[in-house]
Amino acid sequence: MNVERQTVRSQLREHKRLTLYSIIGTVVHFLLLLYFIFDEQEPLIYYNIVALSCWLYCFYFLRKKDYYRIAILTSLVMLIQLNLVTILYGTESGVLMGLWPLACIFVINTRTRMVAGTVFASVCLISFILLSLYAPVSTEDGFIPGSLEIFILVTGAIMVSAVMSIKSAFRARRNKMIYIANHDTLTGLKNRRFFTTFIAHRQDVIRREGTRFCLALGDIDHFKQINDQHGHQMGDAVLVAIAACFREISAQSDVICRWGGEEFLIFIPESDISMAYPVLEAIREVISDQNIDGINTTISFGVVESDGSEALDELFKAADLLLYKAKQSGRNRVEYE
Ligand code: GH3
Ligand code: MG
Ligand code: MG
Repeated sequence: MNVERQTVRSQLREHKRLTLYSIIGTVVHFLLLLYFIFDEQEPLIYYNIVALSCWLYCFYFLRKKDYYRIAILTSLVMLIQLNLVTILYGTESGVLMGLWPLACIFVINTRTRMVAGTVFASVCLISFILLSLYAPVSTEDGFIPGSLEIFILVTGAIMVSAVMSIKSAFRARRNKMIYIANHDTLTGLKNRRFFTTFIAHRQDVIRREGTRFCLALGDIDHFKQINDQHGHQMGDAVLVAIAACFREISAQSDVICRWGGEEFLIFIPESDISMAYPVLEAIREVISDQNIDGINTTISFGVVESDGSEALDELFKAADLLLYKAKQSGRNRVEYE
């Protein structure tokens, strides 16, 4: 998948996730407010009115796509909330357990800075120690029945899902890096780095299996003229359109690579020249019939067949010589041995 499209998708996912987070935060604080009104806990009633306003304010930040402020604001709101509830209802309420996932999530958040994360996590840790030492174990009021068990469960679940999200972020990043390392950014085709490693490996397999393959080097005819007459951007558009022709005609098992500027390599497995030639002719014809914003272009090919025994350099050189022959013979043609 295209890297830009992936980035847009992940931004959309983040926006949706934060919208859901803000909705849940608002609803939970509203319910808590009702609970504290019912329990006549004045300091918590006032605090939760402030907290609720902060959560509602997050929707304004969401609209502005200011995700950093959402992280800071909501984390502070929750930090104070957890401290206040523990002081007023006692450590037995289990509420102080929430300080751990709160610290972890703040640190994991890629939008918060390392320094801010360290400071916030330290404040959570110090709060935890101070509350454990000085907050009452239980008070007369008593918090929601079973809150200790609920907090243990929720804390565990949040910590596990945080670790899972780190893992999936690592995996996504690794996949993105692998994609970037192996693909050409303009056309999305495989790049030279991928192709050289790939073909060296496939050659070994082919040699062992005793099959054959074809390797064709294609070069756009008079491409410099296209750049000169229509501009470099239009030249890029032509390259993209030509890459699409390659994809359209070739089989799933074929591997297409942007070898250099306006050169393409195509690996056709389990085939000899008689099988590869019609494929290359079809690609050549589609390209020559195509009109890209008023531009007509053609391509020339040099194609070699191999049983995997030749050195790669020799193969590339042979394909290059045949391509040269195609250019010399008038271009827009496929030359083979
Ligand atoms: P021939 O038919 O002999 O192949 O002629 P040509 O003009 O295609 O060959 P030449 O090698 O002289 O020109 C290739 C041109 O391709 C030169 C270079 O500016 C252009 N080119 C290389 N990479 C890119 C690219 O990524 N985008 C664009 N727009 N042009 C590129
Ligand atoms: Mg060239
Ligand atoms: Mg050329």
